[in-house]
Amino acid sequence: MSQVMASPSGGSVTRTKKSGASKSPRVRFEPTKGFQHELKSRVEEYFAATGKTPRGSTAIYRKAIVILAWLAGSYAALVFLPLPLWGSIAAALSLGLATAAVGFNIQHDGGHRAFSDNTLLNKASAFTLDIVGASSYIWNHKHNVLHHTYANIEGHDDDIDLGVLGRLSPHQKYLWFHRFQHVYLWFFYGFLTFKWFFVTDFVRAMSGKINTHSFPRPKGMDLFLFVLGKVIFFSLAFVIPALIYPLPIVIAFFMGIQFVQSVIISVVFQMAHTVEEAEFPIPEGTPPERIRNEWMIHQIETTVDFARNNKLLGWYIGGLNFQIEHHLFPRVSHVHYPALSRIVEETCAKYGVTYTAHPTLFHSLRSHYRWLRTLSHPTPA
Ligand SMILES: [Zn+2]
Repeated sequence: MSQVMASPSGGSVTRTKKSGASKSPRVRFEPTKGFQHELKSRVEEYFAATGKTPRGSTAIYRKAIVILAWLAGSYAALVFLPLPLWGSIAAALSLGLATAAVGFNIQHDGGHRAFSDNTLLNKASAFTLDIVGASSYIWNHKHNVLHHTYANIEGHDDDIDLGVLGRLSPHQKYLWFHRFQHVYLWFFYGFLTFKWFFVTDFVRAMSGKINTHSFPRPKGMDLFLFVLGKVIFFSLAFVIPALIYPLPIVIAFFMGIQFVQSVIISVVFQMAHTVEEAEFPIPEGTPPERIRNEWMIHQIETTVDFARNNKLLGWYIGGLNFQIEHHLFPRVSHVHYPALSRIVEETCAKYGVTYTAHPTLFHSLRSHYRWLRTLSHPTPA
């Protein structure tokens, strides 16, 4: 049953200084004072009592088939059917939505080895990310290791780093144009995947670096799958459509599809971590730096749930409206998060840990807007 549990991988990541000359030890968290033990055993009891497997199993296999059929149907309609313009736009919109759904529901669970008890099925579901454009190998280091271990810690969590474009943490440098970020960032969210697919993946694979963190460059089978994924994606996105349509049309539709899925992916992430209620703690002391909190409480205080009663939204975004539960138990499939959220909330209440959930998507969007506006000033309000 220990496979249920999250493992703070604070022991597996090193952070190198910008010069690359020396390696500083990783951030460490405080030992648990009881909360972590109790929460883990309550969740273990839940799975023992219900007889359910923590992985997605049959429920997620069915869901994966539906979403993959949606993806393939949208692609086939867009590329191979002689549709009028409005029909092509509808098919492109559907393809953008389906692509994001593949990431949320299939790849994300697979990448966390929560999709199935079968290793090969987990790898295959994780590889769906490569087919829709991004390397699952790089994602594993960026998301699984850095983001999940060091959520909202500036300099360690790459997901809160937008470069000069925006300021998501109060510990990031203020630039004069950030005063408008609560207005313009929503548009720039639409370009997330362009940089990711065409630049960032390749730079990281060649350098073995994600910002200041080092990771092993892909070799052997990992390198083969990296290249294979890019070949499949570029063939599906450009080569096959260009055999039928003029290239400018192909590029225009590609950009529209990517814009749709980029906005959705960005906004879902921002709802969970960059809202007014999320904490942005900074590590203290000389290396090894310390976070003055136990790891699970750190995850809860840096993450916010939203719209927990919205079943349709929860189905579409792969339970990522339950991000607290996901951060605590990433090896548990998202199909279990609604049940786990009751256990987590009760345990938080007992230990006086702040558990935050926005009642609706709108509340969450508003909170993200306000947070961006707060950080649009040189010093946070
Ligand atoms: Zn995750």
